[in-house]
Amino acid sequence: MTRFIFITGGVVSSLGKGLASAALGALLQGRGFKVRLRKLDPYINVDPGTMSPYQHGEVYVTDDGAETDLDLGHYERFTGVASRQSDNITTGRIYSDVIARERRGDYLGATIQVIPHITDAIKAFITSDLEDEDFVLCEIGGTVGDIEGLPFLEAIRQMGNELGRERVMYLHLTLVPYIPSAGELKTKPTQHSVKELLSVGIQADVLLCRADREIPDADRRKIALFCNVRHEAVIPALDVDSIYQVPISYHEEGLDDQVCRHFNIDAPALDLSGWRDIVHRATKPEGEVSIAIVGKYTGLLDAYKSLAEALAHGGIANNVRVNTNWIDAEIFEREDTVQHLDGVNGILVPGGFGERGAAGKLAAARFARERDVPYFGICFGMQMAVVEAARNMAGIEGAGSTEFGPCDEPVIGLMTEWIRDGTVETRARDGDLGGTMRLGAYGCVLSPNSRVRQIYGTDRISERHRHRYEVNNTYEARLAKAGMIFSGKSPDGVLPEIVELPDHPWFIGVQFHPELKSRPFEPHPLFTSFIGAAIDQARLV
Ligand code: GLN
Repeated sequence: MTRFIFITGGVVSSLGKGLASAALGALLQGRGFKVRLRKLDPYINVDPGTMSPYQHGEVYVTDDGAETDLDLGHYERFTGVASRQSDNITTGRIYSDVIARERRGDYLGATIQVIPHITDAIKAFITSDLEDEDFVLCEIGGTVGDIEGLPFLEAIRQMGNELGRERVMYLHLTLVPYIPSAGELKTKPTQHSVKELLSVGIQADVLLCRADREIPDADRRKIALFCNVRHEAVIPALDVDSIYQVPISYHEEGLDDQVCRHFNIDAPALDLSGWRDIVHRATKPEGEVSIAIVGKYTGLLDAYKSLAEALAHGGIANNVRVNTNWIDAEIFEREDTVQHLDGVNGILVPGGFGERGAAGKLAAARFARERDVPYFGICFGMQMAVVEAARNMAGIEGAGSTEFGPCDEPVIGLMTEWIRDGTVETRARDGDLGGTMRLGAYGCVLSPNSRVRQIYGTDRISERHRHRYEVNNTYEARLAKAGMIFSGKSPDGVLPEIVELPDHPWFIGVQFHPELKSRPFEPHPLFTSFIGAAIDQARLV
């Protein structure tokens, strides 16, 4: 029997609902349950794929090619369960599906309304594509009281009514702020937020109260009394040093016990030693390395969420702290690279779109290549490394990417056709921007004797993609002659997926996004190896 836990947030946004959901998922999993995590996003975009990273943070891509909310990355990293297309929905997607059905005549002349048609579509999504999960944790994006969120709240209210409290629980995340002039934590915002939820018919069962200091028991009792929640179900969620501490703290405050109690189920005790080990490694490293990340959206770290996590995982695997230095690529158009990159132990150029900042990324790749600094190019970062190598190693002067306009030597070009699992996929040159890239998991074959073959320990891998342009394979021989080899290719041998410089201590570019698959308990081999190379580099300087 699948039970549903709905997670809402109140008072302010950015309380870490995604992380809280992921942590609860991990706790329930640790107690022997099969879990699934889903996110319902109230904004009108059909998916976050077309949104600026500054608006929405990173776009997290699933194996099945969905462009989703970055919270799905937390879910995957904390539970190890691969997210799917069916784990994230937006208002835009719900409405476009309902309207398409209306156009087809599926509603047989009915007037289409928010209740029941939109709410039915939301409920159908929540209950779709499930197997034998014990728990589905469903996070509602935004904050209680937002206009856009109302249909979602109404849908989850209906589910509570239909399935009963034995199958539905409401978890509400709030803030208990400390007011310095009063010298006290204040419970009123929580009371108001729980009331707001009650006004749409949802009584919270468990409250997770974010606070920057211990919440006195008297305040917990007060919250319980005013919010109509049991005293033990008012769970303090205090700030912690490492995100891996979150499941441990929630457990110590009784969160998973309260969930079991709500559903009246017995569950085996939890073994958190794995999490404790990760926290220990993350907070008490034996050394440190510095990595420069030369990108475009460096002003908002959420734009590179999975990347930051994957680097941390690489550090955990090597027992070192990874100090990240986020550099806006455009700075290299005004200032010398040496000034910013001298002394770093590794350089990473992440994914990106458009010409702005490209010159700076080329300069960073050149610096790494010429100075033997470990270089990791991801997607756009790989494409820039190829352009740089073509121009400065192979002497192909006009080498460039057609992403920036027509070019004489298109070493990076637009692909309008490729093969996936034996079938041809095509894209129109002037097609829609949304959902039309090469998206999701594709296989890749690694060359014998290559560095990546050694790092992965296998010759066949699968990684997630999100890009429109590809390395042009007609330049393979010229690049190889100059010293850059294509060490990973699509199974049909057509698309270059990985490049490396065999004569460099560690210079690898990958067309895919390995950061999306790195997990604290399973650090991605490329990140582990890259940080290992950075440690070697640190020993040299
Ligand atoms: N802009 C490049 C492309 O579309 C790279 C995309 C990326 O880095 N994700 O191919």
